[in-house]
Amino acid sequence: MRPTQITADKTKAVLTITWDDGEISELPFALLSDLCPCATCNEERNNPDPLKIIRPRSYELEAINPVGNYAINIMWKGGCRFGIYSWEYLREMTNLLRRSASQDG
Ligand SMILES: [Zn+2]
Repeated sequence: MRPTQITADKTKAVLTITWDDGEISELPFALLSDLCPCATCNEERNNPDPLKIIRPRSYELEAINPVGNYAINIMWKGGCRFGIYSWEYLREMTNLLRRSASQDG
C-alpha cells in the first residue's frame, strides 16, 4: 500500500493522498500537525507538564519531503519540523477521521 499521488492544498489546508488501492485520504493540516508522530510531540501529548508552556501548534505547511519509500516528513512553519509520517500512520489517520465522521452523522 503506497500513495500514487500526494497533493497539498494550502488554501483548503488539506493534504490529499491517492493510494495504489484506490483509497483517497483527505487529511486536514490541523489534524496532521496535532498528531505529529515525532518523539517530542508524542512526549508532549502523553505527558503534558502543567508547568510547561506548551508551544503553539503551527498549521501552516512549510515543506513536505520524501523519506525513503515509506514515509514523508512534514515541516510546519514556525512549528515542528521533525514529524516522519509513515504510510501506515497516514492510513490510520484516515480511518480515524472516517470513524469520527460516521459518529457525527
Ligand atoms: Zn513533532
